[in-house]
Amino acid sequence: MIIVSACLAGKKCRYDGEHKEIQDVTELVAQGKAIAVCPEELGGLPTPRPPAENVDGKLITIDGKDVTLNYEKGAQMALEIALENSCTQALLKSKSPMCGLGKIYDGSFKGQLTDGDGEFTKLLKENGVQVKSCN
Ligand code: SF4
Repeated sequence: MIIVSACLAGKKCRYDGEHKEIQDVTELVAQGKAIAVCPEELGGLPTPRPPAENVDGKLITIDGKDVTLNYEKGAQMALEIALENSCTQALLKSKSPMCGLGKIYDGSFKGQLTDGDGEFTKLLKENGVQVKSCN
């Protein structure tokens, strides 16, 4: 089973209330081969919501609110869903402070990237799930 970012499967769960659908991902979910999760929503954040970035290890919204606990809770809940469903692979949305792999926004809110993984990505990797990134 594959765990996927829900926004890649057409769910309008991004901070701006939109999705980043990849049709093949949506079809995997429809066929029962993948499970879609949005860890930010699982962590109690509303949609739409102010964008957040990793600022020196804390998740901070563009208007200055610390949402680190929401990120930690949501990442943990999404990990539990992945493990309960024996997911060995993940396909996650690139650059996100939650789902990004290898590169994430750098905390300046200027669209600039830095090396790093999102909070959910980190947990998946720590638990032996192979993560790939797209879109
Ligand atoms: Fe949710 Fe991850 Fe998509 Fe952000 S990138 S909207 S946390 S599924």
